[in-house]
Amino acid sequence: MRTVNAYAAPSATEPLVKTTITRRDVGPDDVMIDIAYAGICHSDIHTVRGEWGPIEYPQVVGHEIVGHVTEVGANVTKHQVGDRVGVGCMVNSCGECEQCLAGQEQYCLKGNIGTYASVDVDGSTTQGGYSQAVVVDQDFVLRVPESLDIEKVAPLLCAGITTYSPLHHWKAGPGTKVAVIGMGGLGHMAVKIAVALGAEVTVLSQTTSKEADSLRYGAKAHYATKDADTFEKLANSFELIINTVSAKLDMQAYLGLLKVDGTLVNVGAPPEPLDVPAFALIPRRLSWAGSAIGGIAETQEMLDFCAEHDILPETELISADQVNEAYERVLSSDVRYRFVIDAATLA
Ligand code: NAP
Ligand code: ZN
Repeated sequence: MRTVNAYAAPSATEPLVKTTITRRDVGPDDVMIDIAYAGICHSDIHTVRGEWGPIEYPQVVGHEIVGHVTEVGANVTKHQVGDRVGVGCMVNSCGECEQCLAGQEQYCLKGNIGTYASVDVDGSTTQGGYSQAVVVDQDFVLRVPESLDIEKVAPLLCAGITTYSPLHHWKAGPGTKVAVIGMGGLGHMAVKIAVALGAEVTVLSQTTSKEADSLRYGAKAHYATKDADTFEKLANSFELIINTVSAKLDMQAYLGLLKVDGTLVNVGAPPEPLDVPAFALIPRRLSWAGSAIGGIAETQEMLDFCAEHDILPETELISADQVNEAYERVLSSDVRYRFVIDAATLA
C-alpha cells in the first residue's frame, strides 16, 4: 500500500480539504500512475454534493487524469514505466457481458466501476484523481499522444470522450447541422470536435458573452437562449443537438429546433427530471436520447483524433488549494472552459 496526498470532500456540505488516502499495491494486471494533472468536471460537483444520491465520505473525486507510469504488474503488456497515460471515468468492468465484449464498457450490464465513488473489486470505495497517484487495471489506462500538451490534455478523458461518442454515434459530419447547448467544459469540446468532424455547428448559450470564443473554435453561429427570438429564428434547423447543460431546461423549446427525424442527445445530467411531452416528439418523429462517456477503445480513438486534428481543451491551471473556489466558478458558468489541478501542488 502507498499513502498519497489528496483533496477530499468530508461531507456533502463542507469544502474539500487536504488529506491522505491509500492506493493498493500494484497487482499483476495493474499500472501505478503518478498523476500530473486532473481536470474538474461538473460531475465531480454533482457527486460530492450528493446531488445524484448519497455517497460515502470522505470522497476524492476527479476522472480526468493524466500522468506517467511508475510501476507495472507482472502481466502488464500495454504500458511501460515512463509512459504518458490517462484515466477517465471508469477503472474496471465485468469484461464478459455483451457490452464489454463490444468495447462499450460504459454500458457494462453488471455496471462498470467508476473512477470514484464506486465499489471496487475488493469492496472498497474508489477514490479519484485529485491525488498524487492512482493504481488502475491496464485495460482502463489510455495512451496519451506526446503531441498533446500534458498540461491541457486531461479534460479529454471525460469532456472529450463524452462529446466525441454521441457526435460519432449520430454521425455528425459534412452536411449535418449540429447545435450544442451550453458552452462549458463539455460544450466547448463538443464544438471543437463537431467542427473537426466537418459539421456546421451552432452554439446555444445563455448569453452572448462567449460568442467570440464559439466562433474562434469554429462554430458558424452563437445564439443567446435568454433571447426568446432565438427559438423562433432557429426552429426546424438541426439534425442533431447535444445538450451539455448541468441544470434543468425546457426540453420542449429545444426539441422545436430539430428538423424532422432529428435527435436531441442529453449528456448533461441534472439531478432533476427533465419533462418531455409525447407531443414534443410525435408530430416530427424526433428522438430524445442519452449518452454516457465512451468505451475504452473509443476513448483511445478520440485521443488519437484530437492529436491528429490538434484539438485541446481550453484550460485554467489551478493549485489544489483553489479547488473550492473553482467549484463556485463552475457553478456560476465562470470557467473558460475547464479547470485543471496541477497535482504537483499536492506535495
Ligand atoms: P459546466 O462546465 O458547468 O458546463 C455546463 C454549461 O451549461 C455552463 O457552462 C452553461 O453554459 C450551461 N448552464 C449552466 N447552468 C445553466 C442553466 N441553469 N441554464 C442554462 N444553461 C446553463 O459542466 P460540464 O463539466 O461541462 O458538465 C455538464 C453536464 O454534463 C453535467 O451535468 C455533468 O454531470 C454532465 N456529464 C455527463 C457525462 C455523461 O457521460 N453523460 C459526462 C460528463 C459530464 P452557457 O454559459 O454557455 O450557458
Ligand atoms: Zn466528467
